[in-house]
Amino acid sequence: MLSISNLHAGYGKVEVLHGISLEVPKGQVVTLIGSNGAGKTTTMRAISGMIAPREGRISLGGHDITGEESHRIARRGLAHSPEGRRVFATMTVTDNLLLGAFPRLTGARVRGDVNADLERAFVYFPRLKERRQQLAGTLSGGEQQMLAMARAMMMNPEVVLLDEPSMGLAPILVDEVFRIIALLRQEGVTMLLVEQFAAAALNVADYGYVLENGRIAVHGPAAKLKNDPAVKAAYLGGH
Ligand code: ATP
Repeated sequence: MLSISNLHAGYGKVEVLHGISLEVPKGQVVTLIGSNGAGKTTTMRAISGMIAPREGRISLGGHDITGEESHRIARRGLAHSPEGRRVFATMTVTDNLLLGAFPRLTGARVRGDVNADLERAFVYFPRLKERRQQLAGTLSGGEQQMLAMARAMMMNPEVVLLDEPSMGLAPILVDEVFRIIALLRQEGVTMLLVEQFAAAALNVADYGYVLENGRIAVHGPAAKLKNDPAVKAAYLGGH
């Protein structure tokens, strides 16, 4: 579904990604783990067209999207829920969600019924339903994070990029985020997940890649990575 080969990307003169390759097959959850500064967010940004790759190839559903503008990539069915909470503060929760559906309404393919998807988002995120008329800027941090995730889902995307969905959340909300990711996986949603909680990410994922200094150091089925001594020592707190 999403395929990256030999991706090089960076900022200004600095190259952050030195030729990474990874695959996100349809219906699978793939996680990218690695220490701070390894290049996880940069990978997500290159995939969604926020930064231009310097070398390599990215394809989505068989289409080469390398170097395409981010709005075009979104229309092809890629939803990116970026790190940090990017919600439209002065709009209501419902309007933020409806805006999430926008790329597909303006694209060539109009998929599904927006109102049905809004209802579905409220089933997954009941907290948002209770607050649907509230201005997004007045939601708590955790609620804004959920809104960003729900908005990405409103695109009815082919692939979702989730960058640190648990960032800054209280433990109870972290559990809720992982519960939702597991539910979405059961529904067959294809996802690339970046998470600081590597153990939880490997529990919910089918496959994992470990990024070290802009290179893929190890990859394999999530269950296998969880038991890899080097991965355990470096990323899973030695447990
Ligand atoms: P974290 O887990 O801390 O979020 P990460 O693996 O997501 O880390 P990136 O955010 O991809 O790492 O950053 C990789 C490197 O690129 C870091 O050295 C960072 O300082 C640098 N970098 C990130 N964004 C920019 C930017 N906009 N301009 C310049 N350098 C940047």
